[in-house]
Amino acid sequence: MRKVHTAESIIEIAHLRNVLEQAGIACYVGNERLGGAVGEIPFVECWPELWVLRNGDALSARGLIDTARAAVVPSPDWICRSCGERVEGQFDACWRCSTPGEIAVAAAGTDR
Ligand SMILES: [Zn+2]
Repeated sequence: MRKVHTAESIIEIAHLRNVLEQAGIACYVGNERLGGAVGEIPFVECWPELWVLRNGDALSARGLIDTARAAVVPSPDWICRSCGERVEGQFDACWRCSTPGEIAVAAAGTDR
């Protein structure tokens, strides 16, 4: 089993799970039970996780995820939660410190 995606929003994870399952990729959602409380839990390890059951599916799953997410959000810039650097939306990880980024972080920042 291999983790292919983590997102602050269980809705995003559920959507991506549907995308993968429609492509015939068996998946598993981790931390799903915390979906109602993610706004109060800042730790990324508590975020919902999307896993593929077969490691061989990980590459195609990531491709599908990238496509699905790009279709929903036009890659806005995001702020690295580790070093505070602004990173362009097309990058999955901070170019400076390699921390994986989430579009959800930028969205949450403009939420209040
Ligand atoms: Zn960084």
